[in-house]
Amino acid sequence: MYIDRILFPIQALGPGDRLVIWTAGCSRRCTGCANPELWSTEGRRSRSPLEIARIINNIAAENSISGITVTGGDPLEQPEELIELLRLVSCVTDDVLVYTGYTLGQLCCELTTEQYDELRTLVSVLAEGPYIEELNTPDTVLLGSSNQSLVYFREDMRERYEEYLSQGRKIQNVYMGNRLISVGIHNRQK
Ligand code: SF4
Repeated sequence: MYIDRILFPIQALGPGDRLVIWTAGCSRRCTGCANPELWSTEGRRSRSPLEIARIINNIAAENSISGITVTGGDPLEQPEELIELLRLVSCVTDDVLVYTGYTLGQLCCELTTEQYDELRTLVSVLAEGPYIEELNTPDTVLLGSSNQSLVYFREDMRERYEEYLSQGRKIQNVYMGNRLISVGIHNRQK
C-alpha cells in the first residue's frame, strides 16, 4: 500500500484527536488539488497493510485515538489494501472517515460487491466526490467543494459530525521533521 505519512493528533480532519493517514496515488488530477505531490506513486515504497497497522496500533497503545481519517491521494485507488488495513485497525476506533474522489455511485461499479459491502461496515463516514475548485466555499466544512458529500454508513456518527461541522473549517499547522504541513480543508486561493 502506498502511503505518504501518518500524523497524530490531528483535529482539522474530523472530530476529536484523530490519526490521519495520507495515501499516495490519485489518477483524477483535479484542478486546484491541495496535494498534487501525492498523485504519483513513482519512487515510493509499498508497505503491507500489516506493516501500517502495526504503526497505528503502536500509536494507539500509548494514546487515545478519537478517530481515524484516511485521505490522500485517493485511498480508494487501493481498495484491497485499504479494506485490509481498516480490518486490521478496526479495534482502534469506531469512527473512521475516508475521503475519495469517486462518487458513491461510481464506487458501487468500481468495487466488487464483497469489497463494497465490507467497506460499508469498516467505514463510518465517507467523504465522496471529485474536487471542483469553483465550488470550494468556506461553508463546506470537511469537504473541499459543495458537490462533495458526507455519506453516513453509521447513522450514530451523524450527531458527532454535525457538531463538528457547526464549528467551521479548521486548519492545523504541524511539523513533520523540518517540513511544515498545513492540514485541513483550505479556502480557495483567490
Ligand atoms: S481526488 Fe482528491 S487527491 Fe485526487 S486529484 Fe482530486 S482533490 Fe486531489
